[in-house]
Amino acid sequence: MPGIMAFGQTHSYTVPNLDTESLEVLSSPSIPVSICVDPQITIYSMVDGRVICSAEECNDPQAERLYHTAVKTYDFFRDRFQYCGIDGNGLIAPMHLYWDEQNAAWTCSLALSGKQCSWRFNHAFVREKIVPHEWMHGILDHLWPHSPFGESGALDEAISNINAIACYRWNHRRSIHNISTWRISTGSETLYDLSVRPSMPLIKLRPEESPSQANDMGYVHGNSLIISYAFYRAVQNLYAKTGNEDFAFNGPLDVVWNVIPELDDNESFEGYATKSVEIALRTNRIVAGALHEAFHHVGIVLPPLPLEDNQRARSPLMAGRQRLLRPELYY
Ligand SMILES: [Zn+2]
Repeated sequence: MPGIMAFGQTHSYTVPNLDTESLEVLSSPSIPVSICVDPQITIYSMVDGRVICSAEECNDPQAERLYHTAVKTYDFFRDRFQYCGIDGNGLIAPMHLYWDEQNAAWTCSLALSGKQCSWRFNHAFVREKIVPHEWMHGILDHLWPHSPFGESGALDEAISNINAIACYRWNHRRSIHNISTWRISTGSETLYDLSVRPSMPLIKLRPEESPSQANDMGYVHGNSLIISYAFYRAVQNLYAKTGNEDFAFNGPLDVVWNVIPELDDNESFEGYATKSVEIALRTNRIVAGALHEAFHHVGIVLPPLPLEDNQRARSPLMAGRQRLLRPELYY
């Protein structure tokens, strides 16, 4: 789905006392923990508007598949992040099936009664990674009112894809080394492969261009792969460094959730990356180093990581100075 040009501000890290390099997973996300209710999922047919599946009755096999995938998605966000539905309190939007477009979408419109949002699925897009992708769009819409264009739109897509992979991995105990874990497909077509380094650097709209369908709202889907590949790379390198798959995946994933409340409405890639590293630095320097290296690798210019106090102490020449540590020091 969704991306206006977002011009990043220049950031630098503010670093509190650094933690030791423990393998503890970061603290739970700073999203309010809520009491979950049972999800009230209702699926409508886009052919005739009828309800074709709900908790009471479900006679349509395709709708039943969507219903069960939606329940698994709800359970994932509840169990992993203590976050229920779209708003954290169990709110579910209507789901519409049999969309005649070959696509899936989170879509909102303004009505007299306020903002009306729903999910739409073509039945070929009822897949275990596509449903959580669209679901995460709904959550992001609630937690982070933002421009759907340009870099912030691309961040929306990347965060949705990362959570889609996380949901699938959670439900299937799927290894980060299995390449199919990182692919999002309809079965016949691979839509995204987060493990492949994007061949293009960030594509910006030219000054005379404005976001439109023709340029994918500012190249949001293509650009999103820069951020999602950085996530993939950080995970793989954390595993190489620690041998702990859950830590390697959950460390960066917790940062993704913790950064959401910090994002500006026109957030840039640079701002996202800087804030992510800053959040990680508060808790775990290994994760911060892996994220810093990954963002640097995909071409996002970041302030250098601050040196640890003991490194500073060992090197009188470095006292009072910061320099960019060689990326290979950080997996
Ligand atoms: Zn999307």
